[in-house]
Amino acid sequence: MSPLDLLDVDSSLSAEERQIRAVVRQLVDDQVRPYVAGWYEEGRVPARELAREFGKLGLLGMHLTGYGCAGSSAVAYGLACLELEAGDSGIRSLVSVQGALAMYAIWRYGSAEQKQRWLPTMAAGETIGCFALTEPDHGSDPASMATRARRDGDDWVLHGTKMWITNATIADVAVIWARTDEGIRGFAVPTGTPGVTVREIRRKMSLRASVTGEISLDDVRLPASARLPEAVGLKAPLGCLTEARHGIVWGALGAARDCLETALEYAGSRTQFGRPLASFQLTQAKLADMAVEWSKGYLLALQLGRLADADRLRPDQVSVGKLNNVREALAIARQCRTILGANGVSGAYPVLRHANNLESVLTYEGTSEIHQLVIGQRLTGLSAFA
Ligand SMILES: Cc1cc2nc3c(=O)[nH]c(=O)nc-3n(C[C@H](O)[C@H](O)[C@H](O)COP(=O)(O)OP(=O)(O)OC[C@H]3O[C@@H](n4cnc5c(N)ncnc54)[C@H](O)[C@@H]3O)c2cc1C
Repeated sequence: MSPLDLLDVDSSLSAEERQIRAVVRQLVDDQVRPYVAGWYEEGRVPARELAREFGKLGLLGMHLTGYGCAGSSAVAYGLACLELEAGDSGIRSLVSVQGALAMYAIWRYGSAEQKQRWLPTMAAGETIGCFALTEPDHGSDPASMATRARRDGDDWVLHGTKMWITNATIADVAVIWARTDEGIRGFAVPTGTPGVTVREIRRKMSLRASVTGEISLDDVRLPASARLPEAVGLKAPLGCLTEARHGIVWGALGAARDCLETALEYAGSRTQFGRPLASFQLTQAKLADMAVEWSKGYLLALQLGRLADADRLRPDQVSVGKLNNVREALAIARQCRTILGANGVSGAYPVLRHANNLESVLTYEGTSEIHQLVIGQRLTGLSAFA
């Protein structure tokens, strides 16, 4: 049992859930942990190679059924996200965007032909997807998006720009959300289509082991078959985001756990004033408060996962989890940083890398403020943002 699991939440997991967690933890130990600090420093990640490895283990779209997907429980998927993000939030982002955003969009809203065309190779990690909702001038308010799709005979013609898109420069297929005369619709766009230009966003100080890009759509002509037929209105992309946010609720705990384990070990071995840091009351107070928050977050994630498995999870409940667990994970990462002193800012330790990553996680998939407003709306019946 992990010393951080103060409430013995692990005992509520099934044998299968623990088994999946152990397999993913081993994968991260073997294929991510030894290299990730270097990827982060260089601002590059072998995403395609990793995707193939993740595909072999069934981690891509693992909570979906059919088309080569593993069909695992929401809790097992959450535990996998936790282990991946203990490696790095960028690695979990690769898996989340592939499985919970791009694959989910096609799985939930696509035609039979689209599902057959894309999902099996996406599950195997041979085809990479991205999910393009955000634009340069429209982030928290996607309803006002400027990207347009107009009919031209049987074809659709897309025009606009998408910004901050994870996996953009390595994607084979982009799920693009655009405004039409009938409202917002989704399209599965092969990225080799004439008129699609993708540019990498460099100089990020966060999620550096993750690919992020801008997608320009210059009168991109698509056949009618590219439109996701069941995606009608903004609720379609928001449905995908609810899926992905559930993974983040768990994933953020992974980043926090890695920080806490690092800080615990460091405090036990580093001596000042002739004693280990861990023996100082102020250090113990920090560790105790962080472990309490971590345990509460774990309970929260498990409750949301169980609700998802019972098909009863509401979007505002996911907002509770995303708001709390990312906010607390970031606070834990920053506090652990103080325990490591100067070493806390060194790339030789993972703590500041996790903290910097969590700044992006705090913002993407709905900022903390937007999740507060979603919860506020649930409580008051009044929307402060729409
Ligand atoms: C590394 C990274 C990867 C990303 N990957 C993807 C991706 O794969 N696909 C995708 O579509 N997008 C992606 N995003 C974009 C992300 O979802 C947006 O950044 C996010 O939705 C916020 O939008 P914005 O950055 O335009 O901020 P803005 O919407 O401009 O918000 C700025 C600030 O104002 C606050 N604010 C806005 N409106 C209100 C309001 N009504 N009340 C109170 N406060 C408000 C926000 O909470 C925030 O603090 C990614 C972002 C990052 C950083």
